[in-house]
Amino acid sequence: MNIAFSTNFLNLRAPKELIDISKSAQIIDIEIWTNDGCFMNIRSPNKIQNSLIDEGINILSVHAPFPDGGLIKKGEITDHIKLFKEVCKKCSRLGASYLVYHAPVLRNEVKKKTVKSKAKSIKLWNKISKLADDFELKIAFENLPSNKAWPLGLNISETKEITECIHTKNAGFCLDLSHYLANNEYVGYEEILSKQNLLLIHASDSLRHHDLHLPPGEGEHGWGKFLKYFRIKCSDTPLILEVKSPYLDGKLLRKIMCFMEGGAEEGWKTNSSRRINDNRQN
Ligand SMILES: [Zn+2]
Repeated sequence: MNIAFSTNFLNLRAPKELIDISKSAQIIDIEIWTNDGCFMNIRSPNKIQNSLIDEGINILSVHAPFPDGGLIKKGEITDHIKLFKEVCKKCSRLGASYLVYHAPVLRNEVKKKTVKSKAKSIKLWNKISKLADDFELKIAFENLPSNKAWPLGLNISETKEITECIHTKNAGFCLDLSHYLANNEYVGYEEILSKQNLLLIHASDSLRHHDLHLPPGEGEHGWGKFLKYFRIKCSDTPLILEVKSPYLDGKLLRKIMCFMEGGAEEGWKTNSSRRINDNRQN
């Protein structure tokens, strides 16, 4: 299993903290958020990369920043592309292979119902993907909970549709399990995990209709069933722990990794009274 963790929710103040957490978790692959404290104003990515390499840490992916509510005005496109180019540069210098991207929507296209009818947004996503391709980066479009750009949420089928609109070959999708629950989707894991362009998975737990990013086992996600299909269909796909908890530290990440690697046997149940029969629903 290729397990990584995300710096989202860790509130890091310095790369040294990342090194400490990675050591205590014994997880060496990392996804960084460009807008979190210690990576926002990196002036010398090469220096940081070298210090991480010395510690055996690998930046697997970078989460690109996104506009407020996922909405973008026509006049903001140039700046968005410029910012994205900077992120690509940083990503490439940090040695990452993937960029995670929340597809923004042009303000006047929000009401267009289908992905394929949002022509100007498609044009923008293509420009962004091409830019990532120029830096030899794969771009992973993430399924999203409801926001201003995607009022009903961007579900898995729509995320896949976005990737089908991209002309370069570097585009795929990132499955976020909390967002999957927030959108109350009923697409089966077998179907989702078989998709050839699944690049990354953001792993966390949640309750249906909520985007909570809880540690696995604290929500309604059916881990036994999910991990069974994961092992069969895509055990090489990086599984990135993107967990929010007041107790989040290296030790908790370590426990979650052990749980993912063996603790969640098929049929495993939480004792949460809110849990519903996921075998029926997934
Ligand atoms: Zn995510």
